[in-house]
Amino acid sequence: MKVIISHDVDHITAWEHGRDLILPKHIVRNCIEFGLKYISGREMARRFADIARNRWHNMEEMMGFDREMGIPSTFFFAVSNGMGLSYSLEDAKFWMNRAMDEGFDIGVHGIEFESPHGITVEFNTFARLTNITGFGIRMHYLRRNDGTLRNLAKAGYRFDSSIAELAPPFRVDSLWEFPLHIMDGNILCRNSRWQDRSLEQAKDSTKAIFDASFDRGIEYFTILLHDRYFTDSFRTWKNWYIWVTEFVKANGIGFTSYNEAIRQLERDVPPAINRKTVY
Ligand SMILES: [Zn+2]
Repeated sequence: MKVIISHDVDHITAWEHGRDLILPKHIVRNCIEFGLKYISGREMARRFADIARNRWHNMEEMMGFDREMGIPSTFFFAVSNGMGLSYSLEDAKFWMNRAMDEGFDIGVHGIEFESPHGITVEFNTFARLTNITGFGIRMHYLRRNDGTLRNLAKAGYRFDSSIAELAPPFRVDSLWEFPLHIMDGNILCRNSRWQDRSLEQAKDSTKAIFDASFDRGIEYFTILLHDRYFTDSFRTWKNWYIWVTEFVKANGIGFTSYNEAIRQLERDVPPAINRKTVY
């Protein structure tokens, strides 16, 4: 087994949310998490300070940690807005360039999942901004319908990693699907929209998913942490990520990237692995 880590960039600044409901929802969530004792007063104060200093990403810290750990992670950036994702193309471009300069792979954090035209527009916008080819996508909130994967393939995406399912990678036309096995939000907020799990509970559920994946013979295991949570303002989330990367190393499991995994899969596996299920 090899682990593929990715980071969805959902926010860059706090004030980009002037016209959506993200900020009031965030404040309510902080109060609930503090009231339930999942976060400390210090953590809550840090979160308010993050709003005041208008910084809601942790790109440098995230890249620094992954580089130190030798993790070839992929960062997904949005090139359009919707569903509480509100940063500008200009801000996205700045951080896409930073990530590429640091040697990380980048891809699209997709907003459009229904219209084939909308999907192609996002693909072309990203290609034009970055001048790269052979990139992949993860849909914001993992949204999809029956035609999404085929339309992503048609637009030219090399891979997608939006299907939450304990399954190995599979092909849909020219697209590789890498199902998403662990998403930070599902591990830390199991039954609600706010944190309702301790670090120890998060570790236990992570180990259980790894165990189930070994049983199913999954060779490429995917983990998502939003860079937004790699901060002392979200201590449990950050500590969980640090722990899971150390857990991977301690168990002798290596890290790889989507692109490297595809090169490997295309060398080893006959290309026509279409599943019977239609996605
Ligand atoms: Zn997202």
